[in-house]
Amino acid sequence: MAVYFAAKALLPQGWAENVRVGVSPEGVIQSVVADSVPDEGDIRLDGVVVPGMPNLHSHAFQRAMAGLTEVVGDPADSFWTWRDLMYRLVGKITPEQLETIASYLYIEMLKAGYTSVAEFHYLHHDVDGKAYAQPAELALRVAQAAKNVGIGLTLLPVLYTYSGFGGQPASSGQRRFINDTDSYLKLYDSIATALAPEPMQRAGLCFHSLRAVTPEQMHLVLSSQPQPQPIHIHISEQQKEVADCLAWSGLRPVEWLYDNMPVDDRWCLIHATHITESETRLMADSGAVAGLCLTTEANLGDGIFPGQAFLQQGGNWGIGSDSHISVSVSEDLRWFEYGQRLNNRRRNLLHLETEPYVGNVLYQGALHGGRMALGQNIGELAVGGRADWLVLDGDDPFLATAKDSELLNRWIFACSSNPIKDVVTGGKWVIREGRHEKDAEIKADFAQVLKQLTR
Ligand SMILES: [Zn+2]
Repeated sequence: MAVYFAAKALLPQGWAENVRVGVSPEGVIQSVVADSVPDEGDIRLDGVVVPGMPNLHSHAFQRAMAGLTEVVGDPADSFWTWRDLMYRLVGKITPEQLETIASYLYIEMLKAGYTSVAEFHYLHHDVDGKAYAQPAELALRVAQAAKNVGIGLTLLPVLYTYSGFGGQPASSGQRRFINDTDSYLKLYDSIATALAPEPMQRAGLCFHSLRAVTPEQMHLVLSSQPQPQPIHIHISEQQKEVADCLAWSGLRPVEWLYDNMPVDDRWCLIHATHITESETRLMADSGAVAGLCLTTEANLGDGIFPGQAFLQQGGNWGIGSDSHISVSVSEDLRWFEYGQRLNNRRRNLLHLETEPYVGNVLYQGALHGGRMALGQNIGELAVGGRADWLVLDGDDPFLATAKDSELLNRWIFACSSNPIKDVVTGGKWVIREGRHEKDAEIKADFAQVLKQLTR
């Protein structure tokens, strides 16, 4: 067993000093003892140690288009015109290119504080929309990328069949996404089987949205895979989506979901942006995780989630970098609070009765919800958890002078340069002094792919 020693570490009960952490060869935490004295053989963690953050929503391939859509095309530019550009990119990507994009992105995530990721994977078929000889080809490329760079993965193959509510036929831009229920369940099985031996990977169920599947499909998938596991869905990102759902069913998307599906704490509702007070209450009471993607939602002009009410009602939530317009734990957390401030013209809105420091509420809340959404034993430095942590630069002036209660506020709101120095996942160093051992080769490959895709 390897033993690590940290002068300061964030444990589930709060900050602790002189912490010894024992980790098995499999990368699982076996002991955590605070107020201890280091042994000679202990591995020193040189800085402030916090649990690594789960990223609960990613479409890896979209990293390749980040920054290319910030130019006026249509005077009514919106999520829907952005989506047209996304479909153009998606039409071209090869399996090799996808693996390269995901590898580069996942190294960026590790450096930015994410030690695991839920990949909401809907790119299934070849450029003509035909299944690959190995139907899970593209999903397994993503899994390979995660393994190569050392990030944890919950892979969510997506069921995507239709283009709109009530089973409207898919468009040609969606040809690479489309499965029927039968081919989806086969795909899911082959992915779950392939990932089973991987200690840092697992599969989960995923419906693209209520636009893309029918109620019958959802019931069939859930009854075919009844074991406890994460279930993700895009739910209420766009006002047009809410209007279309009302026209189809007489209910708003979250109302419809709770009326028709057994929603509980296995579920993660991505972009529950447009919800009423009663929908907020339904989500908070059910234990489902609200999947918030703050920088992407800002970039796409989606709207603002009612975070203050949701937190006051004890709702679970976590963060995802989604389209990867930004890959930064601190920026996404900061923007959760800033969105609430801009909307309410007040300050310090995401707090709890027991916790007045916004940064503490943000970091601990996102760890908890991320752990639930990924369905893995992650997000806390505790016995039985995976050894996934970040070492923040203890010499950073903001961190070096902060009281314990202020540490996370200083990092999230004040540090303009990234203070994450070292990262451990599954008991292995993946980032040291800000560098990944595969930086050079993957950076060169990624530049090549960008050139090919934008030519
Ligand atoms: Zn998404």
